[in-house]
Amino acid sequence: MERKRQRHRLGRRILSGGISFLLAGSLSACAPKPWAQVDCFAMDTYHVLQADADEAVLRKAEQRLNELEQVFSRTRAEAELAKLNAAGSMAKDEVSEELWTVLSASKTFAEETDSAFDPTLGCLVDLWDVGSQTPHVPDAQAIQKAQTACGIDKLLLGETVTLKDGMQLDLGAIAKGYAADQLAELLRQEGVENALLSLGGNVYAMGSKDGKPFRVGIADPRREEQLLGSLTVQDEAVVTSGDYQRYFEQNGVRYHHILDGQTGAPAESDLMAVTVVAQSAMRADAYSTALFVLGVEEGLALVEQDDTLEALFVQKDGSITLSSGLQNRFVKR
Ligand code: AMP
Ligand code: MG
Repeated sequence: MERKRQRHRLGRRILSGGISFLLAGSLSACAPKPWAQVDCFAMDTYHVLQADADEAVLRKAEQRLNELEQVFSRTRAEAELAKLNAAGSMAKDEVSEELWTVLSASKTFAEETDSAFDPTLGCLVDLWDVGSQTPHVPDAQAIQKAQTACGIDKLLLGETVTLKDGMQLDLGAIAKGYAADQLAELLRQEGVENALLSLGGNVYAMGSKDGKPFRVGIADPRREEQLLGSLTVQDEAVVTSGDYQRYFEQNGVRYHHILDGQTGAPAESDLMAVTVVAQSAMRADAYSTALFVLGVEEGLALVEQDDTLEALFVQKDGSITLSSGLQNRFVKR
């Protein structure tokens, strides 16, 4: 696939410090039993877990999130991914099922998207360090050097998992999606039918609320606390990538956290944000990142040929493009 390079400025801001605003069901005359809610912090972000269940069940989900952080963290030295990055290789039978599943899926998603989604950008992510206290634009030489340690061909998945040429994995664009799938599965096993999980703004809507499908708000990338509209979803994930969650500005230019491995810099497509709807939250997460890098034209073409994905693109000029499966599911504010 020939990836087009569209060079425009990007923009993004998220509601409530990184958590998408949710419209759960609608108001009803007789007050239904309130749902249990657990707010927690893990994987470097805030989560809101809600379910038509006892709080104890949500505490189990919170515990599961903490376990997954011990698998996917790159910054906690004791985490499995941090250890793999440090060692550069690990025998397959030492790798947890969770990490293996996400690595295999990541490789597939990178291949499907011509590396618009690329889990091997750890060195570039570190170089840009967008979330740090003193972020700044790195010099071109440093970017070039970091790029030499990136590329999906440097991830070998055989009897040994090998990271070639000092490559560092970063699973920040997929781990929360995987976690959402895991939590939904855990809740189902506990007998829960209706729940709404927001993992750092990535939403998984299970079942319904008060007998009505969930409506998930889509944030306006430029006006904090405002919605562009809402999507009706059931047993699906709604995941947004954009340039407004993590960024810094230098000389009036915004540098955000979604990188393009080809340029070694924040992706410059025609988008401010893109939201992906899919039954698999992991797939939705990986693809939201990929579609953001690809831009609306190539991104939409990819989605339309894939029955498992729908998407809502917010372009720089504020216009909204919906994939065919979302045409009747988006209500403008
Ligand atoms: P998301 O918010 O899901 O789009 O993921 C963005 C995060 O994934 C960043 O903060 C980086 O840690 C990492 N990342 C940045 N660019 C990419 C990319 N092109 N492919 C995969 N992961 C990326
Ligand atoms: Mg993602």
